[in-house]
Amino acid sequence: MEQLDLLPIELEGVSQERPLIIAGPCSAETEEQVMTTAKSLSDKGIKIFRAGIWKPRTKPGGFEGIGVEGLSWLKEVKKETGMYVATEVATAKHVYECLKADVDIVWIGARTTANPFAVQEIADALKGVDIPVYVKNPVNPDLELWIGALERINNAGLKRIGAIHRGFSSYDKKIYRNLPQWHIPIELRRRIPNLPIICDPSHIGGKRELIAPLCQQAMDLGFDGLIIESHCNPECAWSDAAQQVTPDILDYILNLLVIRSEHQ
Ligand code: PEP
Ligand code: MN
Repeated sequence: MEQLDLLPIELEGVSQERPLIIAGPCSAETEEQVMTTAKSLSDKGIKIFRAGIWKPRTKPGGFEGIGVEGLSWLKEVKKETGMYVATEVATAKHVYECLKADVDIVWIGARTTANPFAVQEIADALKGVDIPVYVKNPVNPDLELWIGALERINNAGLKRIGAIHRGFSSYDKKIYRNLPQWHIPIELRRRIPNLPIICDPSHIGGKRELIAPLCQQAMDLGFDGLIIESHCNPECAWSDAAQQVTPDILDYILNLLVIRSEHQ
């Protein structure tokens, strides 16, 4: 069993009960889209807002994120709604920009977790900073690479660390965009029992219809929380349009979830 020196990710005003919910659009697109989505989510009781500012895309030519300008919209979200804001960092520069803009939580994306030099660069940039950091699994089903990234962040002195299960790339995309391979995050929990693990049904499913069943499955398997993509107008999203749900649908899905205690 690995020993990570961890502290719980406690956020004032956010319930410690399962599930922790993080929601928001795949990408920050415009100030209006960010604010409209954030206000609707906040009205539904969501306390942590996600939005990608820098988007590492598989192929060139896609929307690669609005960049630094979007950080001021996240600041506005904090001011207007009181929500915590979270975004993805892929380089040291992203980390510095996030810290300057008072971003509350950062996560490392799946493509970045697969690159130890990039993770180390992010870890070095975070040295001496006490901010919650979530580490998504690498795109490939490599548990050691995932644990290695978590260790790099922990070795930099960060203690409020969590993992995000977003599924694993495969050539076969018949049902899932990324195969859940649930045994891998379950093994991660066995190896690092005090590590919070949340599930990202949006990137596993790749389609709206799969969000509800994947959320329930994650809860049944004892995951600590969910990070779900939600957009005020999903069909028109600039990235991941097929998998985003409106704040209303998200609320509906969350209300239907059955949360059983792990020992039932
Ligand atoms: C995202 O969260 O929008 C994202 C790009 O996710 P992943 O790194 O899991 O592909
Ligand atoms: Mn996305």
